[in-house]
Amino acid sequence: MNARADGRHGWRHTRLAPRIVGISVVLLLLVQAVVFAIVRVGIERQAQAVIAKELATGERVWRRLLDQNAARLRQGAQLLASDYGFRTAVASADRETVLSALENHGERIGSVLTAFLDAEGRLVTRTDLPATALSPQQVDDRLQAVARSLAEQPQRPSVLALLDRVPYQFVLVPVRAPLVIGWVLMSFPIDQALADDMDQLFAVPLAVVGHGPGQEPAVVVSTGVARPPQRHAAIAALPLGVSPLTFDGERYLARAFALDTLHGEATTVLLRSVDEAMAPFWQLQWLLLVVAALGVALFAAINWAAMRRVTRPLRALTRAAQALERGEAAVALEGADRGDEVGALARGFETMRSSLARQQADIQRLAFEDPLTGLPNRARLRLALLQVLDGRSPSHPLTVLTLNLDRFKHINHVLGYAFGDTVLRAAAQRLRDVVDAPGALLARVGGDEFCVLVPGADADAAMALAERLAAAFQAPLVLDEQTVDLSAGMGVAVWPDDGADADTLLGRAEIAMRAAKARAEHCLRYDAALDAGSAQTLSLLSDLRQAVDRHELRLYLQPKIDVRTGAVVAAEALVRWHHPRRGLVPPMQFIPFAEQTGFVRALTRWMVEETARQWPGLQAASPGLRVAINLSTRDLMAPDLVEWLEAWQRRHGIGPAAVGLEITESAIMDDPQRAEATLNRLAAMGFRLSIDDFGTGYSSLAYLKRLPVQELKIDRSFVMGMERAADDAVIVRSTIDLAHNLGLSVVAEGVENAAILVALRDLGCDEAQGYHIARPMPVDDWAAWCRTWRSTGSPAAPPSGTVAA
Ligand code: C2E
Ligand code: CA
Ligand code: CA
Repeated sequence: MNARADGRHGWRHTRLAPRIVGISVVLLLLVQAVVFAIVRVGIERQAQAVIAKELATGERVWRRLLDQNAARLRQGAQLLASDYGFRTAVASADRETVLSALENHGERIGSVLTAFLDAEGRLVTRTDLPATALSPQQVDDRLQAVARSLAEQPQRPSVLALLDRVPYQFVLVPVRAPLVIGWVLMSFPIDQALADDMDQLFAVPLAVVGHGPGQEPAVVVSTGVARPPQRHAAIAALPLGVSPLTFDGERYLARAFALDTLHGEATTVLLRSVDEAMAPFWQLQWLLLVVAALGVALFAAINWAAMRRVTRPLRALTRAAQALERGEAAVALEGADRGDEVGALARGFETMRSSLARQQADIQRLAFEDPLTGLPNRARLRLALLQVLDGRSPSHPLTVLTLNLDRFKHINHVLGYAFGDTVLRAAAQRLRDVVDAPGALLARVGGDEFCVLVPGADADAAMALAERLAAAFQAPLVLDEQTVDLSAGMGVAVWPDDGADADTLLGRAEIAMRAAKARAEHCLRYDAALDAGSAQTLSLLSDLRQAVDRHELRLYLQPKIDVRTGAVVAAEALVRWHHPRRGLVPPMQFIPFAEQTGFVRALTRWMVEETARQWPGLQAASPGLRVAINLSTRDLMAPDLVEWLEAWQRRHGIGPAAVGLEITESAIMDDPQRAEATLNRLAAMGFRLSIDDFGTGYSSLAYLKRLPVQELKIDRSFVMGMERAADDAVIVRSTIDLAHNLGLSVVAEGVENAAILVALRDLGCDEAQGYHIARPMPVDDWAAWCRTWRSTGSPAAPPSGTVAA
């Protein structure tokens, strides 16, 4: 039970769709993130490569710019060197004129420092260098060193040299007349203007770092982002080559390269913002991110919808499985029409469910339905009765009517079981036709027993229904050219008077039915007097115990005559009870429970003793008369019966052949082995044994053949029905024939009219007993009756022997 509850718990909480969708979305996000990272790294690399290339180009442009500058300077210097006036001044060693020419000309072309050197390279004169920390001598020395360097490498158009940190471009041009008579040295500083030119031309911020020997590098010129002085230290510290740099959170790439310089070092640093270069990529990446997010959302939505399409039928299957678990297999499954695997699963499941439902229905049917008639069975009826009674108000009565077919066992036996089944089905149909009250339930509760439950019916309504049922059974049944007389005994128990609960009601309806059958009445309502277990019968039982001592029992006799001659040949001893208050109590009201309690043994012995007491008188009235005494099961089972009868017979000197013992089939069948042993001993002693009520029990003639009996008494219900129903006649006829074949004598009891007696004689029946001959009479009346009988003869079979029609 627990495990099952857990199982259900598990089903409810493990949702497939969110899990699968969640996992796939997370996977997708992961893939997106990796792609994003790869793209980002790629973009960064790409951007850096682009920047590095740009910076390399920048370097070339810068160098070109410097070269152009040098070329311009050179032209200017050559112009001066070829100037006639200047040459004349040089030739005449006019220092004043040379200096003024240097000043004028240098100023015109933008040379900051212009100098003249003699043919041997000695500085002759020069213009002043403004705002410098160098001494004039230092400047002179440097200029001479620069001139020497340029003169030594005539292929070099210009040379860079540092003067007080600032790099200067120098060009050296010879003055010829026509031999070289001196040199003009001109210079441009690499200054802010040049850097601004570069920035404008190429949009690359730059810085020039310079330092002489023993000096810390410092930024000399800077543009753009390199301009703010607080950044100069970082720029000045950069190594040669490409390196990253960050200013105020913005990333840059810097390319530092050295310019070939005398008197120190000059480095140019070009800068390019990485973030700026990547800005368009960033935008793209944001777009990519938005697209990816939209994609993931769309993917999740579609996935979710698809999963729901899969899991909805799965959930339906789960619900169906839970329903099956609870035993509900009635509702058909959805999703079986799908073409996919889920559909196949649903179809498989549906097949299983429907077969389960079918099995359940079959089980239900088998458990609650009688397969022969299709009527509800006893279990179903009992359940219905329990339900109807549950919480029922006593003002709404309810009736249970039990109906048992007469002689059905015999029909079965003589005409065959298949025929018996047909009879049952026909009987069920007749009952169905009559039982039409709303809410009424008709059930087959036993072999030949039916039961009707009629809610709302009181005793009167129940008896009316019983009458209608009896009327429906009136018409004989014609089946396979056989005519069967259908009759039945019915018993009624009404709620709440006759019983408070279902089982009591069913039991008491059956008691009433048994009583009705015993009295050959159509229907009886339950009465405590019918019930051996009721309080009323219990008090009757205590009365019965005293009946013997109080001499309230009487011996009655009913004659049996020879069918052919009409002579009285025997008498059946029947007990009567004269109750002081109730009057004459019929044997059927006390024999059954006397049998149940065992008191019947005392009763039988009283009957046997009383018979012996009357024996001489009876023998006198009818010489050779046989007297038959009824033995019950209890008598047969009493261990001392045989000894007791032997002693009785010896005590009274009665020959056992004159004493008949009537035993019913059912009494033998209670314990066949013991009964057989007892019967064998009684037969050995010479008693005449007779099977009573033949046809109402279950035994077959073949079985009875084994028993040491001499006589068979056909039950009065068959004999009484002989005229009306053909099947009763068939039964009587076949019984007589079979009994004769077995060497048994046949007695017919219940002969109520002359016609039956005639018919019995025609069938070869041996003896007859019945109201038509005489009712049971007090033993005192016997002699007188015998005399009358002998003088008038049998009404149907006069002693003369000729039979009147
Ligand atoms: P049973 O042994 O089958 O007795 C025959 C019954 O059929 C008697 O009923 C008798 O009155 C009745 N009967 C005879 N002819 C006819 C007839 O033409 N038409 C009708 N409708 N009935 C007829 P009774 O005397 O009421 O006894 C009923 C049953 O009580 C007996 O059936 C027997 O089973 C039992 N019984 C009676 N006396 C004794 C007895 O002393 N000892 C035992 N153990 N049982 C007895
Ligand atoms: Ca009898
Ligand atoms: Ca009988």
